[in-house]
Amino acid sequence: MLICAATGNAGKLKEIRRILEAQGHTVKSQKELGITLEPEETGATFAENARIKARAICEAAGLPTLADDSGLAVDALDGAPGVYSARYCGRHGDDEANNDKLLAALSGVEEGRRTAKFVSAVCFYLPGGRQLTVLGECPGRVGFERAGSNGFGYDPLFIPDEVGLAGGGKAPNAGGRSYAQLEDWEKDAISHRGVAMAKLDKELPAFLAAGEGAGAPITAIEGSLGFEQDYKRDGDRLTRTLR
Ligand code: IMP
Repeated sequence: MLICAATGNAGKLKEIRRILEAQGHTVKSQKELGITLEPEETGATFAENARIKARAICEAAGLPTLADDSGLAVDALDGAPGVYSARYCGRHGDDEANNDKLLAALSGVEEGRRTAKFVSAVCFYLPGGRQLTVLGECPGRVGFERAGSNGFGYDPLFIPDEVGLAGGGKAPNAGGRSYAQLEDWEKDAISHRGVAMAKLDKELPAFLAAGEGAGAPITAIEGSLGFEQDYKRDGDRLTRTLR
């Protein structure tokens, strides 16, 4: 299925693309579709914010759209930074400053009290308004210093309890490696986003079948990349023209 990924975060997009493509889907980012919209995340929960983003971008793209809202909840900080993870330091998307602030907030907190979890809410939204939201979590702890250079965001500080195995399955993270020290597949198998997307993959066939009257999913898109568009559907092709 052709799916629009509703995110401007390059690290997240890379993961969403790699997970959805491994599930056999084709992914267009909102940027590739010419959509510059950045909906305000006014929700109090990850699920609400995922829905806000998926709906706004779906309405602009006219395509099935997937949005992830995610973040890190640290027990010793009463669940912070939580839904404010992207802007914990006061600016949106400054990963270095966010990590500095997290380390400062946990200074003096011993290893056993640095437990945390990553949470992801993934909303899959169809033109017309049908939607499916799933949640994924990954338990772990916050390290004392950055380690590793893969990934994005808080990856260098987050040490998951488990890692994915090459042949499938997972094992305890005996080496205490951070998300940023894992191979892509080691992270995807256990990560909050990987878990949510695996759930989505499982639930999608029944969800799509339940709305069959709305037509088969779009598999190809052509036409204008302008913003004010009309959509014409012909089987599984969608043609867009400027109004
Ligand atoms: P939002 O979902 O776009 O509001 O932002 C989520 C924020 O949570 C990102 O900017 C990162 O700081 C953090 N985050 C979400 N998922 C991950 C991940 O897999 N690794 C590291 N940081 C993440």
